[in-house]
Amino acid sequence: MEKYILTIDEGTTSARAILFNHEGECVSISQNEFNQYYPHPGWIEQNPKEIWATTTEVINKCKAKAGITDDAILAVAITNQRETSVIWDKNTGLPVYNAIVWGDNRTAAVCNELREEGYEAVIQEKTGLVSDPEFSATKVQWILDHVDGVRERAEAGDLLFSNIDGWILWNLTRGEVHATDYSNASRTMLYNIKTLEWDQELLDKFGIPRCMMPEVKDSSGHFGNVHTGTTFQKPLPIEAVIGDQQGGTFGQCCFNKGECKMTYGTAGVFDMYIGEAPLKSSSGLLTSIAWGIHGKISYIFEGVVFNAGSAIQYLRDELDMIDASPDTEYFAKKATAPRGQLYMLPMFSGLGAPYWNANVSGGIFGMTRGVGKYDLIRATMDSLGYQTRDMVDAVNKDLDTRASIIRLDGGAAKNDLISQFTADILGFDVDRPVNVETTAAGGAYMAGLSIGFWKDYDDIKKTRKAEKVFKPEMSEAEREALYAGWSNCVKSLEYWGDGAKKMK
Ligand code: ADP
Repeated sequence: MEKYILTIDEGTTSARAILFNHEGECVSISQNEFNQYYPHPGWIEQNPKEIWATTTEVINKCKAKAGITDDAILAVAITNQRETSVIWDKNTGLPVYNAIVWGDNRTAAVCNELREEGYEAVIQEKTGLVSDPEFSATKVQWILDHVDGVRERAEAGDLLFSNIDGWILWNLTRGEVHATDYSNASRTMLYNIKTLEWDQELLDKFGIPRCMMPEVKDSSGHFGNVHTGTTFQKPLPIEAVIGDQQGGTFGQCCFNKGECKMTYGTAGVFDMYIGEAPLKSSSGLLTSIAWGIHGKISYIFEGVVFNAGSAIQYLRDELDMIDASPDTEYFAKKATAPRGQLYMLPMFSGLGAPYWNANVSGGIFGMTRGVGKYDLIRATMDSLGYQTRDMVDAVNKDLDTRASIIRLDGGAAKNDLISQFTADILGFDVDRPVNVETTAAGGAYMAGLSIGFWKDYDDIKKTRKAEKVFKPEMSEAEREALYAGWSNCVKSLEYWGDGAKKMK
């Protein structure tokens, strides 16, 4: 009988269950969306109970689709949207409030105050992050401060906190295990990535009782067994927990210093594996824990650009220029305006890494009467490549090892023109894998490593196959001229955005 690893992939909008075989192939996949709630502008919540119910549904569907029983599953892995925060009662299993999602910005003012009082340097030093509402600390603080009676219950030791990974783990084990892994812990803004512990000073600063915090474990290792009941009939071991971007980095086999991946999803997420020292970026990237394996911790640099695939959606939904995202390939081939003349910067919600400027909004530069729809479509597609170049240039300033290959994934990486332009503007190879489910694969690899399904990194690497490698075709002179034009546009946007803010 063929044996599998089952990955539970908790995304931001849906839960998926995927079975991986020894070749690293997805043999069965099942996915269901769950609701997002927007109680106020800028707030985003999810119902933890609904996430759990959706999860059990997809696990059942995935096994049924493959026609297998639990006897064919060797281990379970969890990979998840990071930072989204849940607090629940350990006696009843009931959440005290909805999950506050990573993109929720209700605590933006608190984070600004921390910056103004000069506390961001402490946060950076301890956690590798910046003071931002994305991370869990101020979300937990908000629930403790705003939901009646919750602080007292937390202090009495009745409440538990975790990100979605820990919530699923606790439910899978019917309340036996309250734990997380290093990669998730490092995104809470409460975990010291150097001393490897929940940081007491930060817990005090945000007023969070230590007894709520999950135990932090290796990403690849034994977390407990699933409880036998409706979803599973056998007490299968849970052998991995890993945050989504770190899972993607592992799934793309970025095991050596300088190896990186770029995910072109709705947003764009760049990660570079930097080895076993928590280096500090001086050019605007965050440092997080990549993973813990066999007691060894390693680190990544990470940069998020807020709009990647969403820029393509903008062409479809707001500008009505295309019916579907893949149409962009056909239209872009008809573009006639020279690339260096027209730039589209989709900074709809500020400038993310490596610039960090919330005053900025998007812009189109170089409009002439001759610029038409096809040109604008191509310029928008090119913005993904330029933003990747921004990241690569930033890490190249920080490290002695230069990035020399990038592995691409996410929905917009399916686009050949976007992938080719990325190679052109970087000046090195862009490698797109056959298996685009890189996050879930990362989880499966971690669990497989823990139980010896795969022996070591080399064994895992054999299963990763490139579907296509895009080689740079542009001359060095053209590449640098185009990128200089992009950099000028970014500066102009900042100038304009900062000026507009002052005039308010
Ligand atoms: P997420 O996980 O963030 O929801 P996905 O990885 O599923 O995102 O990617 C979805 C994004 O990819 C959408 O913004 C969509 O516009 C874009 N996309 C999907 N297919 C293509 C394509 N062929 N060309 C360009 N963009 C695409």
